Amino acid sequence: CGIVGYIGDKEAAPILIDGLKSLEYRGYDSAGVSIYDHKIKCVKTKGRLINLEERLNNNMLHGNLGIGHTRWATHGEPSDINSHPHMNSTNTISLVHNGIIENYMTIKEKLESKGQKFVSETDTEVAVQLIDYYYSKNHNLLDAVLKAMDKIEGSYAFGVICNDEPDKIIAVRKDSPLIIGIGKGENYIASDIPAILEHTRDVYLLEDKEIAIVTKDNVKIIDTDKNEVTREIYNVTWDL
Ligand code: GLU
Repeated sequence: CGIVGYIGDKEAAPILIDGLKSLEYRGYDSAGVSIYDHKIKCVKTKGRLINLEERLNNNMLHGNLGIGHTRWATHGEPSDINSHPHMNSTNTISLVHNGIIENYMTIKEKLESKGQKFVSETDTEVAVQLIDYYYSKNHNLLDAVLKAMDKIEGSYAFGVICNDEPDKIIAVRKDSPLIIGIGKGENYIASDIPAILEHTRDVYLLEDKEIAIVTKDNVKIIDTDKNEVTREIYNVTWDL
């Protein structure tokens, strides 16, 4: 339901939590964050953001790269395991998702027949497992995400991070909103402008089937054929 991501020099966790709070009006049943703290660590829980904050207070994650999510369950009951972010089985790739993957059962069955084990009941886990499947072949996160997009039907905004490429967030969307917030030496992704308005008023509005490669100092937007897209910066003039 809500997505926030950060890459820069600051502590990611408080930025993600604050961003998710500003998306609370959308309603949600669970929340979580994945932070790159020497490796990707994920803390998530059913319930309100206060529950997530309590878990983080007992186990603070320190790092300058992270993704966060508030979930409105569509596939799989609200539970800790079904909360986002989701991880691949080796905990090297983490993903948040808004939307619905229509053909998740077909993809799940194929991956299970190749030996991949699923832990949740969500449609979303299929996306991270599929990216993991392609990543294990070519060790390139962008290519793995592009291949997964080719197979996934439905609506999605994804934020993806990977242990072996901790310099970036990959953000993509189709029929579900996603924006990129442009900072100085830091950048953001979010499902809606309020989540980042405290930090920047300059945003790129991603269009359907576009991919943003978001690093600390740069945002590159490409189409599914890897052609670079030139996007005007949209300046947000309104206040909350
Ligand atoms: N379909 C996904 C799920 O049920 C994502 C829902 C959302 O957009 O929050 O986990």
